[in-house]
Amino acid sequence: MKIICIGRNYADHAKELGNAISKEPLIFLKPDTALLPKKNPFFIPDFTNDLHHELELVVRINRVGKSIEERFAHRYYNQVTVGIDFTARDIQRKCKENGLPWEKAKAFDGSAPIGDWMDVGDQDVQNLNIELKKNSISVQLGNTGDMLFTVNRLIEEVSKYFTLKIGDLIFTGTPAGVAAVSKNDELEAFIEGQSLLKLRVK
Ligand code: MG
Repeated sequence: MKIICIGRNYADHAKELGNAISKEPLIFLKPDTALLPKKNPFFIPDFTNDLHHELELVVRINRVGKSIEERFAHRYYNQVTVGIDFTARDIQRKCKENGLPWEKAKAFDGSAPIGDWMDVGDQDVQNLNIELKKNSISVQLGNTGDMLFTVNRLIEEVSKYFTLKIGDLIFTGTPAGVAAVSKNDELEAFIEGQSLLKLRVK
Protein backbone atom coordinates (compact mmCIF):
# COMPACT_ATOMS: atom_id res chain seq x y z
CA MET A 1 0.00 0.00 0.00
CA LYS A 2 1.01 3.59 -0.37
CA ILE A 3 0.30 6.80 1.49
CA ILE A 4 -0.49 9.79 -0.68
CA CYS A 5 -0.32 13.16 1.04
CA ILE A 6 -1.63 16.56 0.02
CA GLY A 7 0.07 19.79 1.03
CA ARG A 8 -1.43 23.28 1.41
CA ASN A 9 -5.06 22.21 1.10
CA TYR A 10 -6.40 24.77 3.60
CA ALA A 11 -5.86 28.47 2.93
CA ASP A 12 -5.33 29.33 6.62
CA HIS A 13 -2.49 26.80 6.91
CA ALA A 14 -0.79 27.84 3.64
CA LYS A 15 -0.83 31.37 5.04
CA GLU A 16 0.65 30.45 8.43
CA LEU A 17 3.71 28.95 6.69
CA GLY A 18 3.94 31.83 4.21
CA ASN A 19 3.09 29.66 1.19
CA ALA A 20 1.07 30.76 -1.83
CA ILE A 21 -2.23 29.00 -2.52
CA SER A 22 -1.70 26.42 -5.28
CA LYS A 23 -3.81 26.18 -8.40
CA GLU A 24 -3.48 22.40 -8.28
CA PRO A 25 -2.96 20.05 -5.33
CA LEU A 26 0.58 19.58 -4.01
CA ILE A 27 1.21 15.82 -3.84
CA PHE A 28 3.87 13.78 -2.05
CA LEU A 29 4.17 10.19 -0.82
CA LYS A 30 5.11 8.35 2.35
CA PRO A 31 6.14 4.67 2.38
CA ASP A 32 4.23 2.01 4.37
CA THR A 33 6.97 2.18 7.03
CA ALA A 34 5.60 5.62 7.94
CA LEU A 35 2.59 3.96 9.56
CA LEU A 36 2.88 3.68 13.33
CA PRO A 37 1.76 0.32 14.72
CA LYS A 38 -1.28 0.75 16.99
CA LYS A 39 -0.46 1.35 20.67
CA ASN A 40 3.20 2.09 19.91
CA PRO A 41 4.49 5.38 21.30
CA PHE A 42 5.85 7.87 18.79
CA PHE A 43 9.56 8.58 19.23
CA ILE A 44 10.84 11.98 18.09
CA PRO A 45 13.65 11.20 15.63
CA ASP A 46 17.03 12.51 16.74
CA PHE A 47 17.66 14.28 13.40
CA THR A 48 15.13 17.03 14.12
CA ASN A 49 14.78 19.80 16.69
CA ASP A 50 11.47 21.09 15.36
CA LEU A 51 8.96 18.30 14.87
CA HIS A 52 5.45 19.53 14.04
CA HIS A 53 2.04 17.89 14.22
CA GLU A 54 -0.28 18.29 11.21
CA LEU A 55 -3.79 16.98 11.85
CA GLU A 56 -5.44 15.63 8.70
CA LEU A 57 -8.53 13.81 7.50
CA VAL A 58 -7.41 10.45 6.05
CA VAL A 59 -9.38 8.56 3.41
CA ARG A 60 -8.99 4.83 2.79
CA ILE A 61 -9.31 3.64 -0.82
CA ASN A 62 -11.48 0.51 -1.20
CA ARG A 63 -11.47 -0.07 -4.99
CA VAL A 64 -8.75 -0.20 -7.61
CA GLY A 65 -8.86 2.76 -9.96
CA LYS A 66 -6.90 4.88 -12.40
CA SER A 67 -7.85 8.21 -13.99
CA ILE A 68 -10.97 8.44 -11.84
CA GLU A 69 -13.33 11.29 -12.64
CA GLU A 70 -14.33 13.52 -9.75
CA ARG A 71 -18.02 12.66 -10.15
CA PHE A 72 -17.29 8.92 -9.65
CA ALA A 73 -14.65 9.35 -6.94
CA HIS A 74 -17.10 8.83 -4.04
CA ARG A 75 -17.32 5.16 -5.08
CA TYR A 76 -13.67 4.60 -4.21
CA TYR A 77 -13.85 5.08 -0.40
CA ASN A 78 -16.27 4.49 2.44
CA GLN A 79 -14.09 5.02 5.51
CA VAL A 80 -12.22 7.97 6.95
CA THR A 81 -10.17 8.69 10.04
CA VAL A 82 -7.75 11.28 11.35
CA GLY A 83 -4.01 11.03 11.01
CA ILE A 84 -0.97 13.09 11.86
CA ASP A 85 1.40 14.08 9.09
CA PHE A 86 4.45 14.48 11.35
CA THR A 87 6.87 16.93 9.79
CA ALA A 88 10.48 17.74 10.71
CA ARG A 89 9.98 21.44 9.98
CA ASP A 90 13.70 22.28 10.26
CA ILE A 91 14.64 19.60 7.71
CA GLN A 92 11.74 20.60 5.45
CA ARG A 93 12.88 24.24 5.54
CA LYS A 94 16.36 23.21 4.35
CA CYS A 95 14.88 20.99 1.61
CA LYS A 96 12.64 23.85 0.41
CA GLU A 97 15.51 26.36 0.41
CA ASN A 98 17.56 24.03 -1.75
CA GLY A 99 14.72 22.95 -4.03
CA LEU A 100 15.04 19.35 -2.79
CA PRO A 101 12.34 16.71 -2.20
CA TRP A 102 10.73 16.58 1.27
CA GLU A 103 10.94 12.85 2.07
CA LYS A 104 13.53 13.18 4.83
CA ALA A 105 11.27 15.69 6.58
CA LYS A 106 7.96 13.94 5.98
CA ALA A 107 8.29 10.24 5.18
CA PHE A 108 10.44 8.83 7.99
CA ASP A 109 9.43 5.79 10.07
CA GLY A 110 6.32 6.40 12.14
CA SER A 111 5.58 9.77 10.52
CA ALA A 112 2.00 8.82 9.60
CA PRO A 113 0.03 7.56 12.60
CA ILE A 114 -3.67 7.04 11.85
CA GLY A 115 -6.75 6.53 14.04
CA ASP A 116 -9.60 4.03 14.06
CA TRP A 117 -11.72 3.92 10.91
CA MET A 118 -15.13 5.53 10.77
CA ASP A 119 -17.72 4.57 8.16
CA VAL A 120 -18.68 7.53 6.00
CA GLY A 121 -22.29 6.32 5.63
CA ASP A 122 -24.59 9.25 4.97
CA GLN A 123 -22.16 11.84 6.32
CA ASP A 124 -20.88 14.60 4.09
CA VAL A 125 -17.07 14.20 4.04
CA GLN A 126 -16.85 17.90 3.18
CA ASN A 127 -18.53 18.93 6.40
CA LEU A 128 -16.61 17.18 9.18
CA ASN A 129 -15.08 18.92 12.16
CA ILE A 130 -11.61 17.60 12.91
CA GLU A 131 -9.71 18.46 16.07
CA LEU A 132 -6.36 17.80 17.68
CA LYS A 133 -5.78 18.17 21.40
CA LYS A 134 -2.31 18.35 22.90
CA ASN A 135 -2.27 17.54 26.62
CA SER A 136 -6.06 18.02 26.63
CA ILE A 137 -5.86 21.51 25.09
CA SER A 138 -7.31 22.09 21.63
CA VAL A 139 -4.50 23.07 19.21
CA GLN A 140 -5.96 22.38 15.76
CA LEU A 141 -9.60 22.72 14.85
CA GLY A 142 -10.77 22.60 11.25
CA ASN A 143 -13.71 21.77 9.05
CA THR A 144 -13.22 19.71 5.90
CA GLY A 145 -15.54 22.20 4.16
CA ASP A 146 -12.56 24.56 4.10
CA MET A 147 -10.43 22.29 1.90
CA LEU A 148 -9.24 24.04 -1.26
CA PHE A 149 -9.55 20.74 -3.16
CA THR A 150 -12.31 18.33 -2.08
CA VAL A 151 -11.66 14.65 -1.39
CA ASN A 152 -13.30 13.72 -4.70
CA ARG A 153 -11.26 16.28 -6.59
CA LEU A 154 -8.09 14.98 -4.91
CA ILE A 155 -8.91 11.43 -5.99
CA GLU A 156 -9.33 12.64 -9.57
CA GLU A 157 -6.01 14.44 -9.42
CA VAL A 158 -3.86 11.78 -7.72
CA SER A 159 -5.29 8.95 -9.83
CA LYS A 160 -4.01 10.70 -12.97
CA TYR A 161 -0.51 9.81 -11.77
CA PHE A 162 -0.92 6.78 -9.50
CA THR A 163 -3.17 3.73 -9.78
CA LEU A 164 -5.12 3.66 -6.54
CA LYS A 165 -5.26 0.28 -4.84
CA ILE A 166 -7.32 -1.14 -2.00
CA GLY A 167 -5.88 0.02 1.31
CA ASP A 168 -4.08 3.06 -0.06
CA LEU A 169 -4.43 6.12 2.16
CA ILE A 170 -4.85 9.76 1.25
CA PHE A 171 -3.82 12.37 3.84
CA THR A 172 -5.85 15.39 2.73
CA GLY A 173 -3.88 18.29 4.20
CA THR A 174 -3.85 20.17 7.49
CA PRO A 175 -5.81 23.17 8.72
CA ALA A 176 -3.98 25.93 10.62
CA GLY A 177 -2.46 25.48 14.06
CA VAL A 178 0.57 23.31 13.30
CA ALA A 179 3.18 23.50 16.07
CA ALA A 180 6.05 21.64 17.65
CA VAL A 181 5.60 18.58 19.85
CA SER A 182 7.80 17.71 22.82
CA LYS A 183 8.67 14.58 24.74
CA ASN A 184 5.79 13.35 26.92
CA ASP A 185 3.11 15.25 25.01
CA GLU A 186 -0.14 13.39 24.63
CA LEU A 187 -1.96 13.92 21.33
CA GLU A 188 -5.60 13.02 20.78
CA ALA A 189 -7.46 13.48 17.50
CA PHE A 190 -11.19 13.62 16.83
CA ILE A 191 -13.78 13.67 14.07
CA GLU A 192 -17.06 15.29 15.10
CA GLY A 193 -16.03 14.99 18.74
CA GLN A 194 -15.31 11.26 18.52
CA SER A 195 -11.86 10.30 19.76
CA LEU A 196 -10.18 8.13 17.11
CA LEU A 197 -6.45 8.49 17.77
CA LYS A 198 -4.42 8.78 20.97
CA LEU A 199 -0.68 9.01 20.94
CA ARG A 200 2.11 9.46 23.46
CA VAL A 201 5.24 11.31 22.26
CA LYS A 202 8.54 9.93 23.58
MG1 MG B 1 0.43 17.75 5.84
